[in-house]
Amino acid sequence: AAGVIMVLTLVGCSGNRTGGAEPGTEPVEGSRVGVAMPTQQSERWIADGANVKASLEELGYVVDLQYANDDIPTQVQQIENMITSGARALVIASIDGTTLTDVLQQAKDQNIPVIAYDRLINGTENVDYYTTFDNYEVGVQQATSLLTGLGVLDENGEETGEEGPFNVELFAGSPDDNNANFFWDGAMDTLKPYMDSGVITVPSGQTSFEQAAILRWLPETAQERMENILTVIGDTELDGVLSPYDGLSIGIISALTSGGYSADALPVITGQDAEVGSVKSIIAGEQYSTIFKDTRALGDQAVTMVDSVLKGEEVEVNDTETYDNTVKVVPAYLLESDIVTVDNYEELLVDSGYYTEDDLK
Ligand code: BGC
Repeated sequence: AAGVIMVLTLVGCSGNRTGGAEPGTEPVEGSRVGVAMPTQQSERWIADGANVKASLEELGYVVDLQYANDDIPTQVQQIENMITSGARALVIASIDGTTLTDVLQQAKDQNIPVIAYDRLINGTENVDYYTTFDNYEVGVQQATSLLTGLGVLDENGEETGEEGPFNVELFAGSPDDNNANFFWDGAMDTLKPYMDSGVITVPSGQTSFEQAAILRWLPETAQERMENILTVIGDTELDGVLSPYDGLSIGIISALTSGGYSADALPVITGQDAEVGSVKSIIAGEQYSTIFKDTRALGDQAVTMVDSVLKGEEVEVNDTETYDNTVKVVPAYLLESDIVTVDNYEELLVDSGYYTEDDLK
């Protein structure tokens, strides 16, 4: 009888592997990996999910990819389902980085490693690794391109002596997304000297993160805030808008054009993610710049992490001090991003195969 029970146990184990095994002790081929993404409302996350899935499948993993429609309880539920259906590792791009503590405890209890994808997961020790872009540098790049577009800096980043004053409004990302603070800090550290010296002024007076933040990164909320600002500042003409994400830039541009700006005389508007609609807008001379974060590279990095962890191999990181999630500093691998304008989009986005020429028509 004991023999029978043993066999059953073994069958039970291999058929329904819930984390369990110590890394490196079981073959990874055919293992399930859960991939939790925030939303399909933005192209970048669709590309992220597709890349991660394809690369994991190439290595022989079975992938459970879920999108949560930017709804926190949905994301928690999806991750719980991944755990109960036998995921051996989790890759998570969180909606709100502070809401996953309970579900990640369940992962920990089952020995399931967790990789935070693009956005840091806060307030838990149960996040093993993090891969993202250098988010502070993204903010620096956004502000630098704004200054270049205004003519305050030249293309080599040197000051031109242009003194303005330039009227600029400031937008920030979602306050529950850890990245939003990094983008803002990088941008504000770059703009601050020019605000102090009067080269840049903010007509609305709204210069705090709280005032500038757009919950859940919603384009329509950015549009509304821009409309309100236009009402408040009356006839004052804007020269620039710091926007941390292409979706917000689209909302901002709508507000500006319906507020009387003509499409060929818009302020200098920044962005992030090089989404197709916004690259087209850059080509059309509306949006000024975006930041290209190659989601293929990020996906590959996350997949390498999963594969190394599950094989019990050393996981490569290049930053062990920046990403403190309030409980621990999460070891991270940071990638680099690029400023895109009409002058270099072909080289960065088309020549690299990220988009085809046709995608941008
Ligand atoms: C990502 C950005 C993106 C934003 C909105 C951030 O966490 O890092 O690339 O623009 O979310 O989706």
